[in-house]
Amino acid sequence: MHELPLVMDVLALALKAAPDGARVTAVELSVGALRDAEGPWLERYFRMLARGTAAEGAALRVTRPEARLRCLSCGALFEAAARPRGPAALARALAAALARRAPEGPACPECGRRDCAVEGGLEFSLDRIEVEDRR
Ligand SMILES: [Zn+2]
Repeated sequence: MHELPLVMDVLALALKAAPDGARVTAVELSVGALRDAEGPWLERYFRMLARGTAAEGAALRVTRPEARLRCLSCGALFEAAARPRGPAALARALAAALARRAPEGPACPECGRRDCAVEGGLEFSLDRIEVEDRR
C-alpha cells in the first residue's frame, strides 16, 4: 500500500526523462532499509503502472542501504541489520529501543553504549533511468 504512491512518482519521473518515441528500459532506486517499502511490492506496482506506457517492460532495480546508526557517545558509525524482520518491523523496533535505551536495542560496537541516532536507512532516491531512443 505505501509503495503505490512512491512508484507513481518514480514512474512519472522516468517517463518525463524519456523523449518522445524513446523507451525507458531500466530504473534504479535506493530505498533505505528503514523505509516502509517492500521490494517485491515496488516491482509489482511498477510493472502494473508501467503497462501501456513508454516504461512497459522496464527493469526496476532496487538496492536497500542498511540502517546506519551513529553512536552519540563515541561517534562510531555502524549498521543495524534490517532483515529478516522487514523494514517496518525494524523501524518500529529501532525507534522504540532508541527512545527508552532498551537493553535489546542496538549497542555501539565500539563502546557498547546505547545512545544512538539514526544516520541512514531512510533514504529514497531515484539513482538512474535508462532510456533507449529508437528513432
Ligand atoms: Zn560508541
